[in-house]
Amino acid sequence: MRFRSELDPLRPYIPPKSWRMAAEGTDENRYAKLTSNELAFGPLPEAEAALAEVLPRANRYPDSHVTRLRQVVAEANAGTETRNVLVGNGSSEVLMNVLQLLPVGEVVYPWPSFSLYPMICAVLGMTARPVSLTENHEIPAEALLSAVTDETRAVILCNPNNPSGTYLTLDEVTSLASELPPDVLLILDEAYVEFVDDPTYRDSHTLALGRENVITARTFSKAHGLAGLRVGYGIGPEKIADYAERVRFPVSVNLAAQVAATASMLAQEKVRERAEFVVRERSRLQEAFAGAKLDFIPSQGNFIMVRFEAEDFEKAGVLVREGAALEYPGWSRVTVGDSWENDRVIAALGNETREAEPAAKPQRAS
Ligand SMILES: *Cc1c(COP(=O)(O)O)cnc(C)c1O
Repeated sequence: MRFRSELDPLRPYIPPKSWRMAAEGTDENRYAKLTSNELAFGPLPEAEAALAEVLPRANRYPDSHVTRLRQVVAEANAGTETRNVLVGNGSSEVLMNVLQLLPVGEVVYPWPSFSLYPMICAVLGMTARPVSLTENHEIPAEALLSAVTDETRAVILCNPNNPSGTYLTLDEVTSLASELPPDVLLILDEAYVEFVDDPTYRDSHTLALGRENVITARTFSKAHGLAGLRVGYGIGPEKIADYAERVRFPVSVNLAAQVAATASMLAQEKVRERAEFVVRERSRLQEAFAGAKLDFIPSQGNFIMVRFEAEDFEKAGVLVREGAALEYPGWSRVTVGDSWENDRVIAALGNETREAEPAAKPQRAS
């Protein structure tokens, strides 16, 4: 057998330790699991009720065009029509589908960023052109523009950026979009948009509606607490949405994902309250890092990069994403958890040398 040589450098995704523990069924209740930027809370009760209601109909295929969810997403984003909405099996699929629409060429993105980008580029035979974050871990808007050549097909801007947590304001993204050649697609990956505390950023989708070459990709995996169901969406020009629907796997968004995401979007006030909780807790953690004289990167996501070893967090009963996996050796990416989990993160900072047996997490009242 011969394989495409671009695939040789690809390795299977190495998940964080908490995923392996869950797969093995080992006792995970002893740890605060802050590895993957998931929400600490389960789906909203509205989403759970919708799931329970459709399960008896799981013998039937769901709506392959995901019409109801696309309508609800459009209603939640002023100025958006259903025909502007893309959907996918996670926003990962939205990103993949959009890149599949472009002729083979180069894809520019800041780096370090989301590990999926180089992976998708390799699979699609595109050439990745990573551009380093600035010394202050900021997104290098000017350098991104300079990296664009005649071969560039897309710029992927993870905003806020995972793992740095830094972001460009809506004005900055707007000028980046305006300066890009019209045949280069700007893909805004806004997986963490709900945690941006600048209220003027909220309408970022309008950037994608007013132009031919901008799309935004969002997800139900983070603020909505539905990572396990795999559903994401995008907002962009009708033409891109139309083409993306042509390449999407016919029923990639399953029945459970469709109804839970719809119910969660309809309850978006509650999602916003949960995101506000995360933002308050993010400040509390950042103050604790500052108080402990640790380097950290002020974040607009539901995670914070801090110069503190993952091993030392683990000794204190906290699992975080090791910086070495994110090109930040010596650092950790800490997901903002619930109050109990964040207390434990803070306790770990003073605990570096002491090896205590962590207590089990109290069971949450439902
Ligand atoms: C978590 C995350 C996503 C979401 O992926 P899904 O496929 O929707 O679960 C997308 N982009 C970035 C940068 C992320 O961190």
